[in-house]
Amino acid sequence: AAQEGFDPEQVESELAAAGHGPLPVLAVVGRPNVGKSTLVNRILGRREAVVEDRPGVTRDRVTYEAEWAGRRFKVVDTGGWEQDVLGIDAAVAAQAEFAIEAADAVVFVVDSTVGATDTDEAVVKLLRRAGKPVVLCANKVDGPTGEPDAAMLWSLGLGEPHPVSSLHGRGTGDLLDAVLEALPEAPAQTFGGGTGGPRRIALIGRPNVGKSSLLNKVAREERVVVDELAGTTRDPVDELIELGGITWKFVDTAGIRRRVHLQEGADYYASLRTAAALEKAEVAVVLIDAGETISVQDTRIITMAVEAGRAVVIAYNKWDLLDEERRYYLEREIERDLVQVQWAPRVNVSALTGRHMERLVPAIETALAGWETRVPTGRLNAFLGEIVASHPHPIRGGKQPRILFGTQAGTRPPRFVLFASGFLEAGYRRFVERRLREEFGFEGTPIQISVRVRE
Ligand code: GDP
Ligand code: GDP
Repeated sequence: AAQEGFDPEQVESELAAAGHGPLPVLAVVGRPNVGKSTLVNRILGRREAVVEDRPGVTRDRVTYEAEWAGRRFKVVDTGGWEQDVLGIDAAVAAQAEFAIEAADAVVFVVDSTVGATDTDEAVVKLLRRAGKPVVLCANKVDGPTGEPDAAMLWSLGLGEPHPVSSLHGRGTGDLLDAVLEALPEAPAQTFGGGTGGPRRIALIGRPNVGKSSLLNKVAREERVVVDELAGTTRDPVDELIELGGITWKFVDTAGIRRRVHLQEGADYYASLRTAAALEKAEVAVVLIDAGETISVQDTRIITMAVEAGRAVVIAYNKWDLLDEERRYYLEREIERDLVQVQWAPRVNVSALTGRHMERLVPAIETALAGWETRVPTGRLNAFLGEIVASHPHPIRGGKQPRILFGTQAGTRPPRFVLFASGFLEAGYRRFVERRLREEFGFEGTPIQISVRVRE
């Protein structure tokens, strides 16, 4: 019954719309109040609405999917990040630096009613060094009288300023056309997979959980090769480290080694670093200080990894410090606060003593395997058919929405598109996800499920 209405051509076009593989990334940077968030909303306002359910996690999102002229890309919105914790200049520079690093192209937003400030000039320097394509947005040109202000911005040396009113929409079409020209078809950073270079690991966690200790532990005992990245702005040193006979790339370890500790804004800095590392990684090893109560910061970092669609391993560090009592409470905290990632492989380690370091690699491999799992369409639909028969969706308003068929649109992480005869409740989608996991594994990976309603 699940196959009813199955139309291969329809599926093909739906899949093309859903997009295969990773999308190119556009970063929107600029000083506070120049209108970045307004612009991002404009861009997103034009995308096709897709009903999507990513269980438990849609807060603090900084990356969105957008579409213009039939092409899809991701937009990194830096506007919502707290900007006032560091000095403004430092905040803007850090924000721009991280966003630029993760991006394939950049929209640099300047308030044309104010003109170029020293902070804008500083960002221009960063942009020049990064060598990424830049589209200059002269914002707040609400009418023709603002055009001369926009023209003044030629002085920044970034090429043509595009006069735009993010507020009213004026000029945003031309801006987006320029953006599409600047974006590569496929992102520069394609996932290496089995064929490409070493698998990429992001070692993340809040300050003081033991990231640098763990890195030093594995690096000291194993061979470390410094991976020179020619032509990059700063030194986002990725380190190649051999573990369990395999060479892994630990991305963005400079941030860990440098141990930047700004008194104020440490959280802010840390979350930027985490976002940048995740953008480059395939798998996240999230470190948690098992000796301390699991905090909101810990769960936020896990959420970031899940939202970024990375494979996830959770390492409970400082295990040497745990007594019976703490162990008891830790398990309760995990049950209470980390249910959303029950699927993540877990290792209990000590960077200090080296306890269970050898368990890291198998856990990472398990997570990567789950991340790459593909379920053949036939098997998936047989499984969906069983679900529909044994656990039909509850009747709502006299109607009973039904899953018609489904297909796996992609891997890394697994993405499914379900076609249904009506809106599927969140609870039912979670049930489907749970059953998918029981049936097909997916250990260590988030699963994304989108539902297309066919009237
Ligand atoms: P962000 O801090 O760079 O994200 O800036 P926001 O998007 O929050 O915008 C800052 C302020 O500028 C808000 O009051 C917006 O309404 C206003 N603004 C943004 N774009 C425009 C525009 O094109 N024209 C005008 N007149 N105001 C704008
Ligand atoms: P980072 O900020 O996440 O890089 O954390 P660090 O690696 O700098 O560690 C913070 C503190 O925790 C340091 O004093 C470490 O010596 C200590 N530490 C790290 N790992 C362990 C561990 O496994 N056991 C114990 N007892 N202390 C640890």
